[in-house]
Amino acid sequence: VTVPTLHVGMLFTTCCWYRDPHGLPWIEYLHTGASKIWYGIPDEYSCSFRSALEKLVPRYCRDRTIWLPSDTAMVPPSLLVKEGVSLCHTVQEPGQFILVFPRAFTSSVCTGYLVSESVYFAQPNWLTTAEQVFKDIQESCESSMVSLERLLFSIATDARSHVEVLRQVLPMVVRIRQQELSYRQELLTLGLKMSERLPLPEASGKRRKSRPARDEEGDYECEICRANLFVSLVTNSHEEGVYCLPHAIQLLTNKRHHLKYCKLMYTYDEEEMKREVNVFVPNLTLLSGCLPSVSLTLQTLRILRFDTNHKDLDKPVPSHDNTHNKGFDSCYTTRVLRENLHIIG
Ligand SMILES: [Zn+2]
Repeated sequence: VTVPTLHVGMLFTTCCWYRDPHGLPWIEYLHTGASKIWYGIPDEYSCSFRSALEKLVPRYCRDRTIWLPSDTAMVPPSLLVKEGVSLCHTVQEPGQFILVFPRAFTSSVCTGYLVSESVYFAQPNWLTTAEQVFKDIQESCESSMVSLERLLFSIATDARSHVEVLRQVLPMVVRIRQQELSYRQELLTLGLKMSERLPLPEASGKRRKSRPARDEEGDYECEICRANLFVSLVTNSHEEGVYCLPHAIQLLTNKRHHLKYCKLMYTYDEEEMKREVNVFVPNLTLLSGCLPSVSLTLQTLRILRFDTNHKDLDKPVPSHDNTHNKGFDSCYTTRVLRENLHIIG
């Protein structure tokens, strides 16, 4: 998601009306070349925009939360204005940035050859909307740039994650684990016994040819809902398809004879998932008594232990490159939490 995209445009290169389905803001910098004309519609006007498009291009609108699929509709701004839609308009010159707010629609036209670059970003409070955002994407059969599970697991195990962010993430990780275990149990009840471990993306190295095809980024996508699959998936060698667990359950309920072609593929087995959650949940509960606003994962505990000065435990250590979140705040937190760890230990 945070890998920048380079855009090369020529005269009249036009982008369709677009809103990032993940609800992320993004920023675009025009490196060189001609200017770029932008039209924008803020989220609060999306209802009038929708009514206008339903009238002008009804075939492009769907009865789903994400009602306008990405990169499908080009509608001239003048027609939208006639339909009463409020638009903003700006011209971006080389060396200038455009900042697009979350859930705003944009469309742009190049006035000549140009090179620009864009990137998405997120503030920590975006996490509060993440579960709903990914549910909407899945229900609307839109493709997502990243798997929510992968994102949350990465945050939970990243040494640089702030405790406040971890506090937001942990209940979601617990919910994902519960949901995942119940789906796997259901598949087992349906008779799915074959399974195989998938390498974690970082450690995957060379891709095996016998595996179902991943897309260019190495992600698996559900055949039906296009969900980006990370924790687990079911392959069907008969149809050469890949399914998320709910859709695999649906398939095996309706077509039992596909059972012999299906296999569960997973990155974490049940034991690993149980171990992860079971270890940090008691710590989280204990600590919440001492420090109401802070929760910890096992990973965080490891970081704290790692990041103390063994000769003088009360002296915060200088930050280590790439291993710890830096700054006074984390050093202070480190000390406070370590004192509480004595209580637990
Ligand atoms: Zn699916």
